[in-house]
Amino acid sequence: VRPDLVLEAKAWVRGAFQDVEIGLDHEAGKILAIKRNLPGTPRTRFPGKLLVPSGVDLHVHLRDPGSPAKEDFRSGTLGAALGGVGTVLDMPNTDPVVDRLSRFEEKRDRVASKACVDWGLWSTFTPQTTRHLDLAMQSVGVKLYLAPTTGIPEAGTAQDLSQRLLFAAKADRLVALHAETPPTRPPATLVEHDASRPAQGEVAAIEAAARAAPADAAVHVCHATTAQAARAASKAGWSAGATPHHLLLANDATSLGAFAKVNPPLRPVAERDGLWHAFAGGEVPILESDHAPHTREEKGRPFTEAPAGVPGVETMLPLLLHEARTRGLDAGRVLEAACAAPGRLLGLPKGQIEPGYDADFFAYDPRAPRKLRGSDLQSRCGWTPFEGREAIVVAAHYLHGDLVVEGGRFVGRAGRGRMVRAQSPPKRRVPEGAA
Ligand SMILES: [Zn+2]
Repeated sequence: VRPDLVLEAKAWVRGAFQDVEIGLDHEAGKILAIKRNLPGTPRTRFPGKLLVPSGVDLHVHLRDPGSPAKEDFRSGTLGAALGGVGTVLDMPNTDPVVDRLSRFEEKRDRVASKACVDWGLWSTFTPQTTRHLDLAMQSVGVKLYLAPTTGIPEAGTAQDLSQRLLFAAKADRLVALHAETPPTRPPATLVEHDASRPAQGEVAAIEAAARAAPADAAVHVCHATTAQAARAASKAGWSAGATPHHLLLANDATSLGAFAKVNPPLRPVAERDGLWHAFAGGEVPILESDHAPHTREEKGRPFTEAPAGVPGVETMLPLLLHEARTRGLDAGRVLEAACAAPGRLLGLPKGQIEPGYDADFFAYDPRAPRKLRGSDLQSRCGWTPFEGREAIVVAAHYLHGDLVVEGGRFVGRAGRGRMVRAQSPPKRRVPEGAA
């Protein structure tokens, strides 16, 4: 097969930026070949830009169904496309919660026509769940909560957790774990919020889950807030993710107040810097946005009443790619964590510029950042905790070989995003010290 489109670019291929020619099978939406010189027409060049794989965001809350004032599947995936994210995996604590097959099917049918990028749906298990295996096998994986959160008023007992991990392992599905101990007292500030859901509790919850889990459980620990939490996950043979807000913000962000209220909480500056160091060193394998928009009105309420969560899917890659550059970190570390590693974890042919992989990638000029403005973003919530920070601009974005963002504008069509098929997760690595 001859490529029907050839891209000439400095691209991130096999862990390094290289001048290559990338041949696409546009019909199949796949990368066909990568060579120094490749025949074929038409050809597209990206002068002054870098070409990198689209992000695979394991963790978004697009609020559809349930909270159209905050977000819906169209606005959320539109933001993803403009932020260089080509695949989003949506969490199950929508309204209603995706804890049974009928709700999974209703949500799937409802959001498909709105998707501007590829997408998958997580499910969760609650006391109301029946047919656990069928539900798990339909979804991309199972989210389990160890503390109450938006839409999940009660986390299960230790025994529930054990049982639920067993169901997920039987269904051969990845578990995304929200590891926290339930809060002790209602906090009124960011510092109190940190103390009420402490970092030690997060580590203890990961360790307890590791003890409760069957040996073949495949678990991803979501939003690790400290290097210690990431190490506890790795010790269990599990992956861990960090969010942009835990990497870049701390509980001293008093001017943000409840706008920076997130679960698990922002930590003190030293912990945040430790997390960045662990991320930079590869000890936190995955970057995930935990995009969780709430309206300005809700976030403007007194701290105790304001909901937890911040938007982030559109700003994750632009911020982190710029931040890496200014801090002297190889952009490849960000791309490995936001694209390649999550693609591998879910067994998807995504997140790498490689023959046989989906032709999902974006181009940006690393020397032309702009300041982030909440009012420029697609999310219906209309604000960002990163207001005024510099970030790179996604100039062009291709999904399945189709141009969906050009000149910084969305030129694709809602409904063109494809649902990703659930895959078996990689087998659990042997925990450290077990052999
Ligand atoms: Zn979340």
